Amino acid sequence: MEKKIALIRGDGIGPEIIVQAVKVLDQVARVYGHSFSYTDVDMGGNAIDKWGDPLPQAELEKCLASDSVLLGAVGGPKWNDVPGPMRPEKGLLRLRAAMEVYSNNRPAKIWPQLASASPLKPELVEKGIDFIIVRELTGGIYFGSHSTRQEGGQAVAEDILTYSAEEIRRIGRIGFETARKRKGRLCSVEKSNVLDSSRLWKKVMHELAGEYPDVVLSDMLVDNCAMQIVRDPSQFDVIVTENMFGDILSDEASMITGSIGTIPSSSLGATTRGLYEPIHGSAPDIAGQDAANPIGTILAAGMMLRFSFDMEREADAIEQAVSDTLDAGFRTADILSSTDCVKVGCTRMGEEIANRIQ
Ligand code: NAD
Repeated sequence: MEKKIALIRGDGIGPEIIVQAVKVLDQVARVYGHSFSYTDVDMGGNAIDKWGDPLPQAELEKCLASDSVLLGAVGGPKWNDVPGPMRPEKGLLRLRAAMEVYSNNRPAKIWPQLASASPLKPELVEKGIDFIIVRELTGGIYFGSHSTRQEGGQAVAEDILTYSAEEIRRIGRIGFETARKRKGRLCSVEKSNVLDSSRLWKKVMHELAGEYPDVVLSDMLVDNCAMQIVRDPSQFDVIVTENMFGDILSDEASMITGSIGTIPSSSLGATTRGLYEPIHGSAPDIAGQDAANPIGTILAAGMMLRFSFDMEREADAIEQAVSDTLDAGFRTADILSSTDCVKVGCTRMGEEIANRIQ
């Protein structure tokens, strides 16, 4: 199979981790007889420096012309003070909107080899952590209007949160479909005791429930959910929630699995072209030190093969190679918890995983 992949290396550790994912993809191509071609796309702080724009239209077009997009991470302190519309993250929001990827899926699953890296008590980890957060990605407060004005002699800031029933329905369906393929339990997370948008969210979810009698729907307020994720994560199968709540809860969920560096995510819409990335940011504190964990990005490449290219065996091979590499004792600094393990850098971790692709 021939596939065109747009690569957004981005800022900070982004370029380092993308190189490792490409190494693994190239090995998959060799072993399974595929041809992957790559097109580099400038986005984020580096694009601001080069083009004066976090995602110039010509760079965006390269993504839209590809079969899928693999992203490292964007942003960093260098661009903290640039004005709102020019911030690196704006490039990412523009990309998600243009690709119409409204569904972000983030697995929170603990690798048995990394159980000791979880900050939760062993008895909680032993009950199992294996759930998915389905997060709405192109609506809500991040996409509403933002303004700051002077009122009564002081600054007043406003961010607007809007959701239509249709926006909720289409992400709700992804939640139900995902639960149907798993253990059949869907938890809808909102703040319906305060927000109108959440009351509409809850109403639409319950309307949809009639179409999915095989899925058990439950409701949870977002503040309670944040607590339950650390109190007993084994209770969750699939969580479906709006953009900002999903952003926050998925970072929390990643932490209980050991390291933010190991978690991939996929963003999909109505077509098979997806946006795949690790869930972490550009980690400026460790950039350029060969210290980043590339596993999240490598697993994101695996998700791309599974969900966009229909390459199940190849995706399984990547997950198995990661597992075998962890079994062999290789650890980057962020997941190193035992002296029996071999501490490696980003490059070596990528090589060890690529060499185990079968
Ligand atoms: P971050 O995820 O970059 O880093 C948080 C902590 O986790 C840091 O200590 C970092 O060293 C560590 N970490 C992250 N990824 C790691 C990896 N692969 N291996 C080892 N350790 C890792 O979050 P932050 O510090 O809040 O943000 C830094 C920058 O990234 C900011 O400019 C932010 O806006 C941006 N950001 C970008 C994205 C994205 O591109 N999708 C997402 C989140 C944050």
